[in-house]
Amino acid sequence: MENAVDEAAPSPSFEEALPPEFGRFLAGAFDLHVHGQPDLAESAQNRGSDIGVARLARSYGIRGWVLKSHLWPTMDRARAAQDALGDDFRVIGSITLNPQVGGVEPTIVEWAADHGAGVVFFPTWGARADVDRWGYISTLLEKQTPGFRSYAESHAITVAVDGELTSAAEDAVRAAVSREMLVATGHLGLEESLAVARLCHQLGRPAMITHPLHFTDDARELQPFIDLGGLLEFSSAPLINPTSHHSVRDFAEAIRVVGPENVVLSSDVFSRWVPPEPESLRTLTEQLHFLGFSAEELRTMLVVNPHRLLRLPVPELA
Ligand SMILES: [Zn+2]
Repeated sequence: MENAVDEAAPSPSFEEALPPEFGRFLAGAFDLHVHGQPDLAESAQNRGSDIGVARLARSYGIRGWVLKSHLWPTMDRARAAQDALGDDFRVIGSITLNPQVGGVEPTIVEWAADHGAGVVFFPTWGARADVDRWGYISTLLEKQTPGFRSYAESHAITVAVDGELTSAAEDAVRAAVSREMLVATGHLGLEESLAVARLCHQLGRPAMITHPLHFTDDARELQPFIDLGGLLEFSSAPLINPTSHHSVRDFAEAIRVVGPENVVLSSDVFSRWVPPEPESLRTLTEQLHFLGFSAEELRTMLVVNPHRLLRLPVPELA
């Protein structure tokens, strides 16, 4: 009976295994890039349920997040999660303008808005630039769907030619901004992202530049985005990916070049080997702190800038 006490003990919660003040930099954070379960496939069991992981995030002090999917709009599941979670955690739905939802079209953006989407991501695996680099998502989708490569190649989306947006892309951006939605550049190439960011700037609603280091290793090349008021997104996901080309030191150096005032940090993880989103974000944040970023700089990237992008009031420092 020596083990009687241990046997009677409840299983430890995730929080019990974390260091004291594990949410020290995440209080008030808003994660602009969270992939739910499922994302690419029901059979790809990457993490716990949308609601379970959101409850965990709440214990870190995270205030809410944007639910994103590479395949299907997330507005309805965001609403279901919101209903289950109550008012102290905000879940915002989004649409990603990949080919299978109809691509970059203003009418689709408007319908998404009518269903409560708060963010429009430009194409990810469906962007011409991403098909050309055949990134991680495409590798996964090709495994899942044998016909994917020819589908992606024949449906790849280009939104700008010689730096000029196509009329559909221009109208899609205008539709998003007029419906109070944040525009994120998805996996567009640098030139195309810049064209999107330029129009967002003209319309008075800065864009979020997703994964800016996908297409350049030189952070100085990102200055034109900053000049357009765009906020550069740095996510945990590319650092945890086994095929990653980047280390957290690369991110730290890039963020020093562009300045934390121009950056948002997000999780964007959705693979079986990653910790849940709040823990992925904590890891990135603690490492950046170790590499010299102050609590105030981290708060700028995790709390202030995401709320600014979403046009939500910035929570007071507790
Ligand atoms: Zn993503």
